Amino acid sequence: MSKALLSLSTNEFIAGIESVASKFDSATYPQQNLPADDWALLVGTGVLLPSLPREYGGRDSHVEMCRVVETLSEWNLPLGMFTTIITGVALRPIALWAGEEAKQEVLPLFAGGDPLIAGFASTEPGCGSAMSSMTSTFEEVDGGYRIRGRKHWQAFSFSANWWLVSAKNDEHGRREYGYFIVKRSEGFRTAERYEPLGLKVIDYGLNDIDAVVPRHRRIQAGGRNLKPMVEMLMASRAMMAAMGCGFLRRVSREAHEYADGRQIGPAPLSAIRFARYRLAAIDSSYTICEALNHHLQTRLNIKADMLGSFPAVQAIKTVATDRMLSAAHHYQQLVGGEGYRSGSPTNISAQSFLDARVFTIFDGTNDLLSQQLTEYCLARLDGRSLSGFLAEWPLTAPGVITHRPNLSFLDRDLKQEHLVLAGRAIAYVFAICEVMRWAAETGADPDRVRTAIAFLKHDIAGVAAEFDLLDTGVLGTDGDATTEPPTNTVISRSIPVHAQT
Ligand SMILES: Cc1cc2nc3c(=O)[nH]c(=O)nc-3n(C[C@H](O)[C@H](O)[C@H](O)COP(=O)(O)OP(=O)(O)OC[C@H]3O[C@@H](n4cnc5c(N)ncnc54)[C@H](O)[C@@H]3O)c2cc1C
Repeated sequence: MSKALLSLSTNEFIAGIESVASKFDSATYPQQNLPADDWALLVGTGVLLPSLPREYGGRDSHVEMCRVVETLSEWNLPLGMFTTIITGVALRPIALWAGEEAKQEVLPLFAGGDPLIAGFASTEPGCGSAMSSMTSTFEEVDGGYRIRGRKHWQAFSFSANWWLVSAKNDEHGRREYGYFIVKRSEGFRTAERYEPLGLKVIDYGLNDIDAVVPRHRRIQAGGRNLKPMVEMLMASRAMMAAMGCGFLRRVSREAHEYADGRQIGPAPLSAIRFARYRLAAIDSSYTICEALNHHLQTRLNIKADMLGSFPAVQAIKTVATDRMLSAAHHYQQLVGGEGYRSGSPTNISAQSFLDARVFTIFDGTNDLLSQQLTEYCLARLDGRSLSGFLAEWPLTAPGVITHRPNLSFLDRDLKQEHLVLAGRAIAYVFAICEVMRWAAETGADPDRVRTAIAFLKHDIAGVAAEFDLLDTGVLGTDGDATTEPPTNTVISRSIPVHAQT
């Protein structure tokens, strides 16, 4: 790797990546697994360097990690995800928590020019949302650990050289979780290829693991609950703001261009008022992601333990990915039949929709994360109602005080379905605050700010309407009350419990 890359200013460094990223323009780049030569080209521009500490040959920069992913995502969203997984999901925990011997062994390899790939193996065929049901195990053996299990849906199933693998140990009558750095050749075998609907640059599959790794490759995170895994996933969840910002900047630009250029009868598509409403929805999604990205760059730090930012990250992931998906949907609808055509020469809406689709599902499904956000807040009520808490909580108070969304519908006994919906409302209030803050700190266009907040307030009212709908009894009364979790209590043990904002 050229030493020159290490001495560039941030703007020069990002400009270098930008100049190569155009080659991966999703309008023209083939829908195929990224060839090693193309990954080498990107690695050569330094896309991995911001994630690596300086002592191992990196540029060690949180802001640059975000800007690299935002830049790539504007040209090619799947490539933004590709880079996020390697930097934010696989290498980050090694840089943060591995011992010196493991860091020396692994990190300098990724600072070289070789097109190396690292993945994160957690999900199993039998469990994704409830990882406490994992069946992969580790046990101590002479000189290290033996890890055995079956994982699936891993990004880079076929192509990763290195893995971070989660496993459990139930010996000695108590559960312990561990995280291990595994070289593919040590016993990581891909048994079946999966064909994803989108994100075609990344290969997926079903993986069998039977590996023995030296003792120093167990990273110093683990313990009796899954909090370390929650923390490990927080960087990529937060990074959804950067991906959403880059992706939606392009979707907004191209949707407008298409609507201005397409004639419907005597006038352009953009002259139809409902088409303009769809464009406003797309633009507001871009504004919201830009504000969340501002929060990511200025308030969060991927280079450090992120558990203290748990509620902000839950909100960022769910709002940013919902916005990516809804904007892609509006864009595809605006384009009409050409929006259903793979490889259309006039627009990228079909592939944009397929690529955006999975963002609300992976990295923790949005429904689960929304429930956890509500549980986090309920654990901190301290005698207040939920709406009273939100009016005082620093992450939501400015939005509640200034825009006065009606949140009183949250003040009731919350069953599981309400916990999920309430989490969405809480995340929308958080997003209102972030749009306000972004506007104040960057002098953003007041029209964009007003429209985005209007859409978010409407979303909160939509959640209130869903509460009303549930009250009509659409779920029926056949639930076995004895198997339902107690209401208004914290359910997930992996949610941070110590008092934080
Ligand atoms: C393209 C892609 C890439 C991926 N990359 C990786 C990777 O690199 N590494 C890795 O380890 N894994 C990866 N995954 C796995 C991914 O993280 C899981 O698919 C995800 O966590 C969901 O787990 P599951 O598929 O087992 O769904 P399940 O746990 O079976 O959940 C199914 C559905 O149940 C519902 N649900 C679950 N809990 C709740 C709740 N509390 N409230 C309401 N509804 C709920 C949700 O609608 C959810 O989507 C990837 C998956 C995909 C599709």
